[in-house]
Amino acid sequence: MNYVSTRNSSKSFKFKDVFIKGLADDGGLFIPKSLHKYNQSDLIEFEKLEYSELAKKIIYPFIGDFMSEPDLGKIIDKSYSVFRKKNVVDLVKIGDRSVLELFHGPTLAFKDIAMQLLGNFYDYHLKNENEKINIVVATSGDTGAAAIDAIKGKKNVNIFILHPNNRISPVQRRLMTTVGEKNVFNIAIEGNFDDCQNLVKAMFADQSFSNEIKMSGVNSINWARIIAQSVYYFYCYFLIKDKSEPINFSVPTGNFGDVYAGYLAKRIGLPVNKFIVATNQNDILHRAISNGNYYVENVLETISPSMDIQIASNFERLIYDLNDQNDKKTIDVMKRIKQIGKYEINKENLDKIHVDFVSSRMDENEVLNTIKTVYKKFDKVLDPHSAIGYGAFDKVNLKGNNIVLATAHPCKFPSAIEKAISIKAELPDKLAFILNEKENYDIIDNDLNKIKKHIKERV
Ligand SMILES: *Cc1c(COP(=O)(O)O)cnc(C)c1O
Repeated sequence: MNYVSTRNSSKSFKFKDVFIKGLADDGGLFIPKSLHKYNQSDLIEFEKLEYSELAKKIIYPFIGDFMSEPDLGKIIDKSYSVFRKKNVVDLVKIGDRSVLELFHGPTLAFKDIAMQLLGNFYDYHLKNENEKINIVVATSGDTGAAAIDAIKGKKNVNIFILHPNNRISPVQRRLMTTVGEKNVFNIAIEGNFDDCQNLVKAMFADQSFSNEIKMSGVNSINWARIIAQSVYYFYCYFLIKDKSEPINFSVPTGNFGDVYAGYLAKRIGLPVNKFIVATNQNDILHRAISNGNYYVENVLETISPSMDIQIASNFERLIYDLNDQNDKKTIDVMKRIKQIGKYEINKENLDKIHVDFVSSRMDENEVLNTIKTVYKKFDKVLDPHSAIGYGAFDKVNLKGNNIVLATAHPCKFPSAIEKAISIKAELPDKLAFILNEKENYDIIDNDLNKIKKHIKERV
C-alpha cells in the first residue's frame, strides 16, 4: 500500500515512513492512496475469528513490506497478551445500549490497544535498522501512559512525554511519572493540551532539530494507531447477534482519532449507519458537524480531560476527503484555520459529513448526571468520557443497535466519580502502588526553545 500526505498527493510513501514519521514533512497527515474494500463473504469469514486473528487480517494489507505476515502475527499476539481480556475488549449491555469496553489494557484506557502494537513495531524496526530514535509526544492524559508502558525499557528508543501541568487527573499523571525506566522522560508544560500539541508539531516542523534527534511521533495522528483502532469496530460488529437493525457507534471524541478509525472501518466495508462524535464542553467538532462552524475557542478544563482539545488534528483527514482529496484545497483550509482559527463548512460538505456522522455535546452537570443515572438504574460505573458517549444517544435520535465506546476505566478519574455517586473508584490491585510511588517529572514553560534544549540535553 502506498500513502500520500493530505498536503501533497503527488509524493508516495511506504508504511515504514508513515509509521516512523507520524506527521509528513509538509505538515500534512498520511493517508492511503487507495483503499481495498471487503465484501459480504469476507465479513462472513472474519466473523469466526478471535480478536488477534481478526487484527492480523485487518492490519496486514496496510503495512505492505514493513514486515511479513507471520512476523506481524507474532507481534499482534505478543501485544495483546498483556490485556486482562483474552479478546482484548468486552461488550456489555447497559440499559437499551451496548457498551464496548476498551479499557482492559495495562494503563486502563483505549489508547493501550494501539500503543502496545506500536511499541512492538518500534522494537522490530529498530532491531532491523540499528539506529536510535526519540519519540516525542503530547498527551491529554491517556496517550502518555499508554505510550510509556509500550516503550519503557526498550532498547534504542527514548520517550519524551509532554502533558499539561495540573490539567490531567492525578492517577493519569502517576501512571506516567512513577515509571522509573531510564528511557522515559516526563515533562509538565505550563499550558493546556493544545499548547503541548503545538510544541510537538513545531519540533517536527523544525527539520534540523527533528533530524538531529531522530524524532518520531506516536500521537493520535499516527496512521498505525488508526488502523489498530479500526479492528475493534469490526470485532464489535461481529458480537452483535441481530444485525437486521442499523448499527450506530457513539464515540467520546477529542482529537478525532478514534472516531476516524471507525469511519475507516466503514470505508473498507463495515456496514455502520452513523457515528456520533460525542464531545464535552470543548465542542468545536459538535459545532462543526451540527452547523458548519469550525471555530477555535479557548480550551476549557473539564472532568473529561482527555477530550479537552480544540484543535482536533485528525479532522484534517476528513477535510481532505470533503475537498475531493485535493491537496491544494486542503492546504488552503488548514492555512485559514491556522491564521484566523475558522473554517466554515458549506452546505454541500455538511451533507457529505452527515452521511456518516452526527454529533453531541455535554456540559459538566450532564456528565455527572449521566454517571449517576447509569449507576442508580443499572449498577454500573462509567468514567466521565464513556458517560459522554453513553448520554449522546439521549440527545441524538438514532434507531437500531446503539453501541457506546467506553474509552477509560472509571478508576482513572476518582474525584469525578466521587462527586457524581459518592463512591471511591479503586485502582486494580496491580496498579495501586502508583499512589505512593515517587514521581519523576520536570515542569517547563510553554516555550519551544526551552523544551528543545531540555530534550537535546537528554537524548
Ligand atoms: C484520548 C481519549 C479520548 C478521545 O479520543 P480521540 O481519538 O482523541 O478522539 C476519549 N476518551 C479517553 C478516555 C481518551 O483517553
